[in-house]
Amino acid sequence: MTDPGTAWSWLGSGWPRAWRPDTVVFDVDGVLIDTRRSFRLAVQDVVVAAQRLAGRPRPWRPGAGDIARLKARGGFNSDIDCSVHLTRLALATVRGVPDVAQPAAARDAPPGADGADPSLIERLFAERYWGPEAFARHFGEPARHFTAPGLRAGERLLAPPGLLPALTARGVRAYGLITGRTTLETDAALEFLNWPRGTFAAGAVVTGEELLKPDPAALHRVVHACGTTRGLFVGDVRDDAQLVRRYRERPGAADVRLVLVGPLARRPGTWGADAGLRTVAQLPELLDHLGSPG
Ligand SMILES: [Mg+2]
Repeated sequence: MTDPGTAWSWLGSGWPRAWRPDTVVFDVDGVLIDTRRSFRLAVQDVVVAAQRLAGRPRPWRPGAGDIARLKARGGFNSDIDCSVHLTRLALATVRGVPDVAQPAAARDAPPGADGADPSLIERLFAERYWGPEAFARHFGEPARHFTAPGLRAGERLLAPPGLLPALTARGVRAYGLITGRTTLETDAALEFLNWPRGTFAAGAVVTGEELLKPDPAALHRVVHACGTTRGLFVGDVRDDAQLVRRYRERPGAADVRLVLVGPLARRPGTWGADAGLRTVAQLPELLDHLGSPG
């Protein structure tokens, strides 16, 4: 149901009349913050650095499209997992260009078995994302592998400044976050958004260090913390859709619906989504439309 006359991009059927959410739960990257110039570049730089450290003289640099394809396929919500997988793929490819479409069979291999040590990659990732100064401040030791300024500076806000007040004015009384970011990275995101931690009830922020999407326990925890009856989950990739689908299958689940945002949300009904928006900035208008009696 694409209607070019309205601000929201498309709305699926199956919404009850005058449906108003009491809770909105957000994914962070690709929804609230544009991380194409931070996490995406960090994955690329880390995969190259990890191959160099493993003795590859001419390392392969994965393209932004390679990373986007992995993310769209699901299972790579954590950018560290994504970097580990791509490094393993690169080291396992003796000749030619690694095939990113290959299944992630080596993902759970023991550390170092194939030259890709997840703890080293995690360290490389933190150094590249934060930059030498912030890395030393947060982790208490100097950066060893990267000297360039941190890629965090390349992040851009997708959420407009008045988003939460606009949603609160439309009846939303609780907010949650479910993200693949670490706790430190999540705190940095909240600071960047200028969203005080007090915006969220205890237990309503779930980081990648606690539970990873699409584990439905993450959404269950947030719904419980928020006392949700009707909720929206706003995400941008397949893992977000899987999270909501698996949560809904649980007995006694609250009425949580999926709003997809961004380039993958263009096609109506993508991954069973209930609505699709070009950007999270359109959320208040979507709520106006859902809440109208007609
Ligand atoms: Mg995302």
